[in-house]
Amino acid sequence: MIKNVAILGATGSIGTSALEVIEKHPDRFAIWGLTSHTRTGNCCAMIKKFKPKMVAVSSEMMSDVAGFLTDGFGSVALLEGDQGINTIAAAEEVDIVIAGISGAAGFASTVSAIRAGKKVLIANKEPLVMLGGLLRQLVAESGAQIVPIDSEHNAIFQCLPKAAQIDCMSGGIDKGQILLRHGVRGIILTASGGPFLNTPLEGMSDITPDQAAAHPRWAMGRKISIDSATMMNKGLEIVEACVLFGVSPQNIEVVVHPESIVHSFVEYLDGSIVAQLANPDMRVPIAAALAEPERIESGVERLDLVRAGQLNFQNPDDRKFPCLAMARQAAEAGGAAPIVLNAANEIAVNAFCEGRIRFTDIPNFIHCALDKFCDLTVDDVASITRLDQLVRETLQNRLDTGTISLQHAVAGY
Ligand code: MG
Repeated sequence: MIKNVAILGATGSIGTSALEVIEKHPDRFAIWGLTSHTRTGNCCAMIKKFKPKMVAVSSEMMSDVAGFLTDGFGSVALLEGDQGINTIAAAEEVDIVIAGISGAAGFASTVSAIRAGKKVLIANKEPLVMLGGLLRQLVAESGAQIVPIDSEHNAIFQCLPKAAQIDCMSGGIDKGQILLRHGVRGIILTASGGPFLNTPLEGMSDITPDQAAAHPRWAMGRKISIDSATMMNKGLEIVEACVLFGVSPQNIEVVVHPESIVHSFVEYLDGSIVAQLANPDMRVPIAAALAEPERIESGVERLDLVRAGQLNFQNPDDRKFPCLAMARQAAEAGGAAPIVLNAANEIAVNAFCEGRIRFTDIPNFIHCALDKFCDLTVDDVASITRLDQLVRETLQNRLDTGTISLQHAVAGY
């Protein structure tokens, strides 16, 4: 039976990779819905090629895409903005939702897809970081299935035994249960180390946004590329792994692996370590998640182990990358802390891209926000959204009025 797929963030890097995989399997998947925030030309080309039933675009794109549709694509329903995205995410006809909208902007639509009981392939880590333990509750209520396509978490998923995968997808893993029930000792997340792995500590404050966005291994969007440069991406992935696999931060180790061939490891009680290896290309985890529990062609070149040669592993430099320890502490604290961490990081990355703060101010900025907001209480989706907005508005306001102080002493800087 052909599965109807909705891609949220279709013109972004995840969406584009997903369409490349789906295009190879017309006997398995049909594109039912697409959403796009920018890149009108790409969006129209996708509509023409994949003939979705429903498309949601940003207000700025509405008139251009509507004009395109009147030229012979009248059977496509065109929706506007966040409400349109949520409608597609929850549409009855949709079987699989690929959540690929970058940042917290993907939160509401991911929640809509989960509440509608879909199989949700989650690429963007921010909704998972924000939902925390509430994810399990939402999934249990709706019967949704969660499959991670963040490459590391998809690798961990692939390295787990079948029973643990089923527990994970159905949101059934309680804190610590994966360790007791499935013989797992811990998770080892790999990190490429980003573009500044070998930059001396003294050189970190002069880094420009373009340098930070140039990732050595993965072609990704700007926000996640800069998160990789600060290693906040790996920090958020620690939180993400805690949420998805019900483990504590103490059971998660981060190793730098510059070749990005091993995408993560699961360590078992008997001393075995199981790894997933592939060329660094998002089509691999996307194909694995789409076809799960089967396997399909992804279009990615096969990994030549001999040509890959040496694989290296080293400890991350905590002095150069303080975001990593900060995220680990937020994961341990739980509650509001991961939400504050995530929101403050997004504002800090934007401010850095606009040239308003230095690269080395990013962790200080987040540290200030954690101090101020992490004692607030969150217990449902509405309170998460409110806290996220409060943090953003307060920090943006302080930036605009020049009242934020970045003088906190953070290890390393
Ligand atoms: Mg990742």
